[in-house]
Order: sequence, then C-alpha cells, then structure tokens
Amino acid sequence: MDCTKCDRDAVMHAAYSGAHLCEPHFLDSVERRVRRRIRTDNMLSPDTTPDDPETWVIGLSGGKDSAVLTDLIEETFRDDPRVELIALTIHEGIAGYRDESLDACTTLAADRDIRHELVTYREEFDVAMDDVADDDPLDMAPCAYCGVFRRDLLAKYADEYDADKLLTGHNLDDEAETALMNILEGNVTQIATHFDASLGSFDDRAELDAMIPRAKPLRDIPEKEVALYAQLRDLPVHMAECPHASESFRSDLQEVLLELEDRRPGTRHSIMAGYEELAGIAADEYNTDDADVGECSDCGAPTTRDRCRKCTLVDAVTSV
Ligand code: SF4
Ligand code: ZN
Repeated sequence: MDCTKCDRDAVMHAAYSGAHLCEPHFLDSVERRVRRRIRTDNMLSPDTTPDDPETWVIGLSGGKDSAVLTDLIEETFRDDPRVELIALTIHEGIAGYRDESLDACTTLAADRDIRHELVTYREEFDVAMDDVADDDPLDMAPCAYCGVFRRDLLAKYADEYDADKLLTGHNLDDEAETALMNILEGNVTQIATHFDASLGSFDDRAELDAMIPRAKPLRDIPEKEVALYAQLRDLPVHMAECPHASESFRSDLQEVLLELEDRRPGTRHSIMAGYEELAGIAADEYNTDDADVGECSDCGAPTTRDRCRKCTLVDAVTSV
C-alpha cells in the first residue's frame, strides 16, 4: 500500500483517520502531534528567563513511552536555556523486568546528556514489589500498592530537585483506560480533577494540592504508534511488560478497549473528547475548600488523615 501523502510504501495504517503513512511521513505526523500538544499545553511553555531556568523531571522507565517522551522533549528543548531536564527512574524491585529496562534508561540518558537519577523501593521503603505481590497483606492487586509508592516517590523527588514540572509518557490508550476506569468505578472526584491531577489517581485532596504541575505530551498518540516510533528511531527500549500488570483492572480495560477500537476505529479519541467535556462540567461542581489538610504523622507528606496512605501501606507490607 502506498503512503497517502507520497508514493513511498506505507509502514502503518491508522484506521481512525484512514491514513496510510510511509516512514518519514509517519515520524513527522507523531512529532507534529506532540509539538502541537507542547504548544497548546500552557504547562509546557517555560515561564521564565534563561538566568533562572525551570527544572523539568521526566519519569523515565525504560519502556517505549517514556523513551519516546525523553527523545522528543530533549530534541525540542535542547537549545532552550530556560529548561533543564532530569530523568528520574523508579526501581520497584520486579525480577526480570526493571533491571533490563534500567539499562535502556541509562543508555538513553547518557546518549542525550541528561542528568539521570535512580530511586528504589528497596532503599526508600525496604520492600520489593515481587514480595509485596506474593504477600499481598491487604488483598489488592499489586498495582494498587505500586501506584501509591510510585506517586509518593515522584512527589518527594520532584520536591527535592525543586522541579517546576513533572512529565510522564502516558499515551492515548493509557488515558482512555483511565477515563473508563474512573467512570466504571464511579469516581467523580477523579473525573472532576482530571485537568489538575493528570497523573492518575491520588488519595485525597491534600495529595492533589501538593502535586507539582504534570504534563503528558504523548497523550494524543495511540500506544501502537508510540511503539512504532520507538522502533523506527531505534531508541533504547525494554519492550517487556511488568509481570504483575495482568492482575489489574486497567489490564481488563485494555483488552476491552483494543477490541472496541478494532471494531469501531476512533473509540479512544471519542472517549477522551467526551471525558474532557465531562471533567470540565464536574470540575465546576467540585468543592475543594473543605479539605482539612495536615501532615502525615510519620513522613510529613500532606494528607487529610493522621497518616498518609503510603505509610499505611508500607506498614502493612513490612509487617507480614
Ligand atoms: Fe507496578 Fe503495576 Fe506498573 Fe507493575 S504494572 S510496575 S506492579 S504499577
Ligand atoms: Zn506518610
């Protein structure tokens, strides 16, 4: 099949738009969509001068999404003295998964001359996700623990590096899954704070308020296109999936969404268009003034409870 824009062979077909694209036109189309998101997303315009650069932390996991994000952000802001990048990798302690992806992170950061930091659940909480998944003291999916731990570390280290923004590699599929998850769980608070808390769930209003601004520059790009972009650009990427991922609700929704998209191309785009409209309406109704924000009696993190969710979970998994 020929490219829709020239007579080279197409390397991909986007059923949702009907386009067949050759390699150069496909790469260009991904870059244009990401740059448009960077331009239209206020959070991604550096609001400073070269004497006082902003620090942007990129969550770099070694998977395709964060590799493509790092690649595109570094390229876009390479010559911009107003932005300094730090790549932050979080090691959860998952055998046969994170060590390999860490190599990919190290290679990419070194290649792009980006400061690279590594933090581990072992050093921070004295736990490894493999043990948490085995013991499972609260009878939850592994991701329910892991998400709380990761969020805590992202917030803690973003604060430590005095970061102005946190960038993550969530793609269109991730976003549509999160939207469906919030609707199916009836989580109106999450829907109402969609535009504030763009990194998935948080435990209470205090935690949300304490978050540094987040941005997801890949949120318009379908997962398959991110994977193809990483492959065609030959980026160092670890393609394996976390062995605990299949136990999550998200993973069930992923299957449903892939099937729906296959039968009705454009489903992900329409979910997100509707969800953002709904989030805007819900945000107008959502009252944020009543939260009684204090500090966790153990770690000092902002919370509306006596102890934050992370400290409660760490206790549960270390006292097994
Ligand atoms: Fe953690 Fe779940 Fe992600 Fe695995 S899939 S790294 S357990 S959040
Ligand atoms: Zn705490």
